[in-house]
Amino acid sequence: MYKKPETDCRLCPRLAEFRDENREKFPDKFNAPVPGFGPDDPELLIVGLAPGLRGANFTGRPFTGDYAGDFLYDMLVEYGFAKGVYDKRPDDGLELIGARITNGVKCVPPQNKPVGAEINTCRDFLESEIASYGNLKAIIALGTIAHNTLLRALGHKQSAFKFGHAALHEITPEKTLDYPVTLIDSYHCSRYNTNTGRLTEDMFRNIFDIAAGLCGRDPGRQAASS
Ligand code: SF4
Repeated sequence: MYKKPETDCRLCPRLAEFRDENREKFPDKFNAPVPGFGPDDPELLIVGLAPGLRGANFTGRPFTGDYAGDFLYDMLVEYGFAKGVYDKRPDDGLELIGARITNGVKCVPPQNKPVGAEINTCRDFLESEIASYGNLKAIIALGTIAHNTLLRALGHKQSAFKFGHAALHEITPEKTLDYPVTLIDSYHCSRYNTNTGRLTEDMFRNIFDIAAGLCGRDPGRQAASS
């Protein structure tokens, strides 16, 4: 079993204060470190930045309830990494298959921007989670911050592997995992990136084609063809 933060983890004082404020403002919402979602022994790990205020922070499930989740979960269902219907609620019955989603920072940051110290502090939990996987084949890093914290979680310098959309990095971890894994970079599936055309549906689909291939599945629209 890996190390999980306490519901009231206060290792990042700024984020703990923000959580206190949100608990006052939105008392019926989740407002706590958001745990990973999916099987405990995934082949594919998807790592985002941090919970969105009205998305994962409200619902308690990564990427659930905000625009980025619509895009991501549709893709997971299309490629057979998820089964069921995504309905923006943690009790929608959606099941992830061979894939798990987590964030580099478990608590919602103000303006969606964690600072370096918060990313570094929360990496301890990310490392512990990754170390518990025995069968990981690929990791999708959604954005530069996820890419950077993943590299450090695997014992490499950020400068060793440059972020680029659809870049593949064959990583031999120096720590955390004792077997190789492929890191796939993707622009984050945020509303901003999709609205501006920085990340199109085809570009995101290409990422999942790569991930499906690395996980030994036929690349292509798995769910649609079954
Ligand atoms: S971001 Fe991580 S380390 Fe920081 S308070 Fe939240 S759970 Fe704790």
